Parts: sequence; C-alpha cells; structure tokens
Amino acid sequence: MNTESEGIVLRQTKTVGGRTMITLFSERFGKISAGTSVSERSKSRAALALRPFCCGRYQLYSLRGSYSITGTETVNSFMRLGDDLDRYLAASYVLELTDAMIGEDSPQPVIYRLLKESLGMLEERKKAWDTIVIAYQIKCLDALGSGPDLSSCVRCGRDISEPSGEEKLWFSVGDGGLICDSCKASQELPQGLIFEVDTDIIRALSYMRSHPLSSLSRLALEDRIAGQLRKMLSAYISFHLGIEGLKSEGLRI
Ligand SMILES: [Zn+2]
Repeated sequence: MNTESEGIVLRQTKTVGGRTMITLFSERFGKISAGTSVSERSKSRAALALRPFCCGRYQLYSLRGSYSITGTETVNSFMRLGDDLDRYLAASYVLELTDAMIGEDSPQPVIYRLLKESLGMLEERKKAWDTIVIAYQIKCLDALGSGPDLSSCVRCGRDISEPSGEEKLWFSVGDGGLICDSCKASQELPQGLIFEVDTDIIRALSYMRSHPLSSLSRLALEDRIAGQLRKMLSAYISFHLGIEGLKSEGLRI
C-alpha cells in the first residue's frame, strides 16, 4: 500500500546486506523502521532527506507491517544544528532521547510537534541550549503521563508550592516529585535519587511545563538552575522510563 507522512529521521543504520535502514519518527504512524534504496553517500536531495535530524515528507510503501521509503521531499534539514558543537550535542541528545522514549508503530503527535519545534529552537538560539533540552524533557514526560508532581509533598500531601522561610525542599526521584523536609527526614533515601531544590528551581520547571515551547524562545536558565534540573531530570528519566547511558548525554558538558 502506498502512503505518506511527514517525519523526522532519528537514525540511519546499515543492514548486513548493505541496505540503509532509516528509523523515522513519522507524524502519522509514530516510530517506524523503513528500508530505502537511496544511498546515503549520494549527494542527491533525496539522500539529504534521509540524514538524522532532517524533517521531510516521505512517500512510503508498506507491506505486512514493514515500510520502504520510495520518495522524499525535505521540509527542514536543520543543517545549522551542526554549526556549533554544544548545540549539536544538545540536539543529538534530544534526538536520541526521543528514539529511546517512543515505541514503534504508536503515533505520538504531541511529542512529534515538540521535537520539531525543539530542533527549530535549538537551531535558532545562540546559547543556553540546555533550556530547550530541559523544556523538551519535562514536556515529553507530561505527554507520556509520567511527569513529576511539583505542587504538594507526594508523601504527606501538604501544599509546598510556596514553602515558608527556611524550610528545605527535596525532589525525590523515586517518589515522583517534591517531598517536604519532615518526610525526607523520616527515611534515608539513596544518593542520586534525592536532590535539594529551592523555589527558583521549582518555579523554573513549573513555568516551562505550563507554557508553550514557542513562548520560551527568549528564556535562558541560569547555569545553576539548568545544572540542577539536568541532574534531576536525567535521574528521573532513568528511573521512570528506564532510559540511561545515552551516548550524547555523556558527551555534553
Ligand atoms: Zn511531606
């Protein structure tokens, strides 16, 4: 059956027989693996649309659940993502995380739109790429129904969105959100799964999750806040989605 979809190329692999396989995040069908006879060494426009990061329209032939790409048309190659190493690594992480987060053959239109928008925003901005990566992480967690609870203590239910005075706040990965100081004191939690946070960190994360990605184009998190959110979300994604050891994550500063 001939069909078509817009999509973003997540990766290219070679089969034993030398055939190029594309892992495509298609808008209509979700993540699919598709064979293609177009050589990736070729300089043709069709080959460009098969490179990782490229967003294009793909003509597909599907037979008994397997796909072949029969034609391509580039929508946005996101070529400028490669102009800066840090930007490239941030975009690589976003792509690799997406690949690990979504299953095959299950449409994820919200995550698809977030990915397309994130790559565009990473390409446009000249610094603070981490801000977009963090916004992408929290929005994807929410889209998958796995986002953390940031309004009340997940153990005792007390509202701690605006903690008073000197009270310490904690982000407990295993509990799935914030816990208050007295709940934290009642049990020893393993290092790497508990993070001390302050209201600036929680406000930044809450702001990003409740505002559309497009409205965050001028937002640049302070290094301290971005650094702590990166550690927290990386541990959270590992614990709740079972995703860790991504190649691009180890390479990012
Ligand atoms: Zn509590």
